[in-house]
Amino acid sequence: MTKRNRPWGYNPNTVQSAGRELRPDTLAVRGALMRTGFQETSEALFLNSGFTYDFAEQAEASFAETEDHHLYSRFSNPTVQMFEERLALIEGAEAAHATGSGMSAMFASVACLVSSGDRVVASGAMFSSCYVVLTEILPRWGVEVEVVIDNTPEAWAKALSKKAKAVFIETPSNPLMEIVDIALVAELSHKAGALLIVDNVMASPVLQKPLELGADVVMYSATKHIDGQGRVLGGALLGSKEYIDQHLKPFTRHTGPSLSPFNAWVLLKSLETMSMRVHKMADSAFEVATAMSSHAAFKNVHHPFLDSHPSQALAKKQMLKGGTTLALELKSKEQAFNLMNRLEVIDISNNLGDSRSLITHPASSTHRRLDPETQARMGISPGTLRLSIGLEDPKDLIEDLLLALKG
Ligand SMILES: *Cc1c(COP(=O)(O)O)cnc(C)c1O
Repeated sequence: MTKRNRPWGYNPNTVQSAGRELRPDTLAVRGALMRTGFQETSEALFLNSGFTYDFAEQAEASFAETEDHHLYSRFSNPTVQMFEERLALIEGAEAAHATGSGMSAMFASVACLVSSGDRVVASGAMFSSCYVVLTEILPRWGVEVEVVIDNTPEAWAKALSKKAKAVFIETPSNPLMEIVDIALVAELSHKAGALLIVDNVMASPVLQKPLELGADVVMYSATKHIDGQGRVLGGALLGSKEYIDQHLKPFTRHTGPSLSPFNAWVLLKSLETMSMRVHKMADSAFEVATAMSSHAAFKNVHHPFLDSHPSQALAKKQMLKGGTTLALELKSKEQAFNLMNRLEVIDISNNLGDSRSLITHPASSTHRRLDPETQARMGISPGTLRLSIGLEDPKDLIEDLLLALKG
């Protein structure tokens, strides 16, 4: 048994030493549990910024990495480490690194790889802050970014016929649930010499496993389904040990987007219920999407598992369920605002993946930062609403929507 980074009475009766393949739901409550000498049941919260050393020689050896010892919570912390290791076990990744928000994970995922003159290729529909990082911030430092507007195999093959350093895709996309073929883009990325990074936020670790489909790095906003209860911000990146240790950590160690130990502790507990929550929310989202798809008020209802979705077959190939979010398209901003204002159960809020159902108007909130042409190209119209389904009884949500539509 390796004792690496487990100086406080690591319980050997856990997965790493059991020599058995435990399933993700078991790993979500048992994996990477690091108990102190007090043998507490639940994970300890190490709310400290620094660590002490018995001797100067121990500090020297710790910095030289010949001795295993936490140095400073900007680099590592036992509670954060438990969250990282548990998430890696659930995802089936070699290694994980947690960050203070989804956006700091997103930025670090690409920034740790690229230099001026390098080329990055990205999918065309995504969360607007990711789009701003890719198309406005990275180009300021001489990184060339090409956005693949038509999400077709031909367009991807063309964009990746030239060398690239990284490919960044979001699938399903926020908010219209557009699907990118992960296996295809992984193959093309590797031929172009690039690592494929997948923003897996909308699917969550429960419904889609990009690493199994050939992706190199998975990115999460832990704020969404991982917390899933509207409490804390967090982010995470998962991939090979080489990517995490050789590329990512040398970048984050000095730039400092660390996850707070308190948030890590909240997120650790959230991992225990994540699969249960996401499955129920995904089942309800499909039920609500199906009920709304036959309503005359909507021009379109976007949900990857509906027959009307253009990529339903691909979504069913790479996802277990169609996600917990849907997009509803009304004819105008006025109709969209009227519907939002008449809802009584569903809250108006721009978060998603929460236990409470939340509705937002992307054109004036989450995607406001994008110019109208980019919004239109992503399929976001003045009448588009994004609905994130929570843990309520789906019948109450359908009734809330139907009553609000009646006016
Ligand atoms: C919310 C979100 C992010 C950003 O995460 P934060 O935790 O808010 O920083 C990135 N990508 C997608 C798809 C998101 O929904």
